[in-house]
Amino acid sequence: MITVREALYRGASLLEKSETPFLDASIILSHILDISKEKLFASYPDPVDPGLMERYLEAMEKRKKNVPVAYITNKKEFFGLTFYVDERVLSPRPDTETLVETALEIVGKNPKVKKILDMCTGSGCIGISLKSSLPELAITCSDISPDAVDVCRYNSNRLLSKPVVAQISDLFEKITGEFDMIVSNPPYVPAAEVKAIRESSPAEPQLALDGGDDGLDLIREIIPASLEHLTPRGYLLLESSIEQTYSIERMMKKAGYTDIETRMDLTGRNRVTVGRKPLA
Ligand code: GLN
Repeated sequence: MITVREALYRGASLLEKSETPFLDASIILSHILDISKEKLFASYPDPVDPGLMERYLEAMEKRKKNVPVAYITNKKEFFGLTFYVDERVLSPRPDTETLVETALEIVGKNPKVKKILDMCTGSGCIGISLKSSLPELAITCSDISPDAVDVCRYNSNRLLSKPVVAQISDLFEKITGEFDMIVSNPPYVPAAEVKAIRESSPAEPQLALDGGDDGLDLIREIIPASLEHLTPRGYLLLESSIEQTYSIERMMKKAGYTDIETRMDLTGRNRVTVGRKPLA
């Protein structure tokens, strides 16, 4: 029978196009064997059950076709939580933790911030991470995609003792009431670049990435519309790519926001722009 060690090396050798063949193989094999990665490395000489080996090789064939590891294991770590993900939602990116951290920092300094809307929530990773850190927050997560709202609801029920409100809405269409903060990681990739992302990762949902010609189509709508749904001095936090943050700052200024600033992600790239609704 084939050993864990042999299975790993055989799996990694199938992934000549992946940048991280051994890491991918070890994550997928530990998922199939239902053990931690540490346990996997400690089990090198152990035999792999032929049925599980077959499932592992099937999963590796998927990975060979560029299906992200997270869609194969249906798991993605984000902000210390393990989110369920599949092809209905974008797999959470580490960049987005900057948005969560910025929101938590603002809430820490402004205890009046209680009601938060996470628009274009996808898997729910932003809103659910906020609620998990500060359970007293009232969080609404919205998305145009009913499939994404299903995934968000599932994550919320699994990860939180008090779930978030998950709502299907095309931006603000079905959103009522006011929020002290609106956070969003909307689709912001320029259409031409979406094609390239989807060529290397065809399973990612186009809807979650495509922001039109310059990537800013949704952001252009969200900035003015948020003013109608924010309490006075409320905060808008938007994730974008580094090149877009200057345009976003300009758009916020033009719409009347104050205290505008941009935060960098862990790699030192401009990533999150913050603005406040004026008092009156
Ligand atoms: N940061 C993501 C990527 O480059 C895009 C996320 C988004 O459009 N909201 O893949």
